[in-house]
Amino acid sequence: MSFYAAPIAKLIDELSKLPGVGSKTAQRLAFHILNMPSGEVEQLSGAIISAKRNIKHCRICCNITDSEVCSICGNPKRDEGLICVVEDPKDVVAMERTREYKGMYHVLNGAISPMEGIGPEEIRIKELLKRLGQQEVKEIILATNPNIEGEATAMYISRLIKPMGIKVTRIAHGIPVGGDLEYADEVTLMKAMEGRREV
Ligand SMILES: [Zn+2]
Repeated sequence: MSFYAAPIAKLIDELSKLPGVGSKTAQRLAFHILNMPSGEVEQLSGAIISAKRNIKHCRICCNITDSEVCSICGNPKRDEGLICVVEDPKDVVAMERTREYKGMYHVLNGAISPMEGIGPEEIRIKELLKRLGQQEVKEIILATNPNIEGEATAMYISRLIKPMGIKVTRIAHGIPVGGDLEYADEVTLMKAMEGRREV
């Protein structure tokens, strides 16, 4: 039973479902929201609803975007022959921060995880294979996270793609094992890209 009135208990409950938000933080956020001017609360809730409604997946790379084709796929200066495969849209942002990589991306929107019941069909591997049939690709860089799921995903994709005669590399050095790509700093990511090896 909650000691709070139902509306605030509900708000705390919803906030505590967010990743990284424990019950203490949820309470702090809920009371902060209660003390905000009504206009700001409406802006916040409006931004959440608008992001959810207007964001879709790029037709080519499956990254999140508000148009049919994302700004990277739509940029003629990017090298179409190079595709960096990542798990998450946040990883694209991390890679872009290095300002070194000039190729394209493919966002899987997840990783293979038998423990969580996520198989190859649940992530955007089919879309990647379709792309390879439609455009000339010289190299696929597998930049999934260096953890069990990321390694399993990289291995699965490399087995599918290598027989197609396309060079497949895996980022290696720099990223700590068990680490998350999105938290790596620019230098670490740059080193990881430089140290990629053929798989
Ligand atoms: Zn795209």
